[in-house]
Amino acid sequence: MAYTTIIGMEVHVALNTKTKMFCPCTNNPESEEPNSQICDVCTGQPGSLPTPNKEAIISTIKVGKALGCSILPVSKFDRKQYFYPDLPKGYQISQYDEPIAKNGKIELQFILEKNIRNTAIIGIERVHLEEDTAKLTHKNDKTLVDFNRSGLPLVEIVTKPDFMSATEAKKYCQELQTLLRYLGVSDAHMEKGQMRCEANISVQTAGTFEIVDGVVKPLHNVALNPKVELKNLNSFKSVERGIIFETERQISLLEQNQTWTQQTRGWDEAKQETVLQRKKGGAADYRYFPEPDIPPFHPENIAGTISLPELPLQKQKRFHSEYGFSYADSHILTQQKALANFTESVMSEITDWLHTMPEVKGSTEIIREQKMQKIARLTGTWLSNKLLGLLNEQKKSIEDFAVSPENMAELIALIYTNKINAMNAQKILVQMVESSNDLDPTHIMEEKGYGMVQDTQKITEIVTDVINTYPKQVAEYQSGKEALLPFFIGMVMKASEGTVDPKIAEETLKNMLTN
Ligand SMILES: [Zn+2]
Repeated sequence: MAYTTIIGMEVHVALNTKTKMFCPCTNNPESEEPNSQICDVCTGQPGSLPTPNKEAIISTIKVGKALGCSILPVSKFDRKQYFYPDLPKGYQISQYDEPIAKNGKIELQFILEKNIRNTAIIGIERVHLEEDTAKLTHKNDKTLVDFNRSGLPLVEIVTKPDFMSATEAKKYCQELQTLLRYLGVSDAHMEKGQMRCEANISVQTAGTFEIVDGVVKPLHNVALNPKVELKNLNSFKSVERGIIFETERQISLLEQNQTWTQQTRGWDEAKQETVLQRKKGGAADYRYFPEPDIPPFHPENIAGTISLPELPLQKQKRFHSEYGFSYADSHILTQQKALANFTESVMSEITDWLHTMPEVKGSTEIIREQKMQKIARLTGTWLSNKLLGLLNEQKKSIEDFAVSPENMAELIALIYTNKINAMNAQKILVQMVESSNDLDPTHIMEEKGYGMVQDTQKITEIVTDVINTYPKQVAEYQSGKEALLPFFIGMVMKASEGTVDPKIAEETLKNMLTN
């Protein structure tokens, strides 16, 4: 039997607003003192009235706009009724049929090789705002409740069931995290619970359904298999592994002619399997109804006054077209806003410098273009590969890198103009990463003697030494065995620790060996 897996994602994002969603309490869930950030509203005292947080509404509109959604002219809050000890009012204020934004999409790019990519488009069903619950801690046989988290603003982003694989779902979560950080609305750390991912998964027999406008519809009167909501996906890796496991579990049930009811399961990281949490009802069971204490509001009007920064994917595409970085480098260099800004400053320095070089100044557009491409490849590699590699190794971020774009550009210029070889440039970069000062690479190069030997007399000395050390090979070369030339070049490289330009070494050797 052939099967198809239907996958949709629901992600809750904790907004980094100053205050809570409906009261003036400080948004500080990490506060060490439990129940220190609370008031009548966020502990659900009778008679207390909620006042919506405008900053949270603006952040949600930003998320909706960035995901290409329509921002609704009228939106409202609703009560979602259910009982649990972490919900003091007996209902959660959420949004039901009139969310802030709906019908958007996100483009996922998979870089297959440096310059080859694949694209997937995922539909966004809705973006709405709701309040978080309190935090329960189970200790021995007691359960403790901390209301510091109660009433914090959460944005929920629901996709259409458009994912074709667990890999796409993981990629979506990664791209969404980058987007949220670019917008500055959330730090979106998964391990801190600032971004909580859930997957809706149902395996169907192929050909029994169609998806119309994001809604799964059965064909030929078959009953579709119910969806499983998968929670506890606390890392990108667990998003991928959890979906793969659940897909295989459902397939094996179908193979044994069994089915399941709609349910919530949790990903058990230790066991690497999904476990049943509860059998679930539909929306009807929550008895949603409009929140009577908050009037409807007008997100579309507010949206008109909000402008978005350049988004990660736009930046990635521009880095490729404007600077000529490969797709892979463009992607890596735009994953963090600070790194993207640093890269742009380095490129600006390098472009200025290139244009002052005498051989480029009066030259044609084509030569300038070729030089720019060479520089882009070099810069792309030195930033995305060498610099990020060293920073990761030392568990540092680009914000910890004390070196200015000017000095980073200078290091790349030294490599480009052959004043230093890659090995010694790497040694300088290590020092630059380790230091808390803005180190000048030329200064280090001169101080440590890392530079390429420019002095002809010095080069002649090194070559003479090599010739004197290998008289037998010299005789063979002079009697016609020219294949020995690379051997001599290698010896010059070794003697100079790579600081003689191989081309100059070759010329000098040819001259001196034939004379
Ligand atoms: Zn409060």
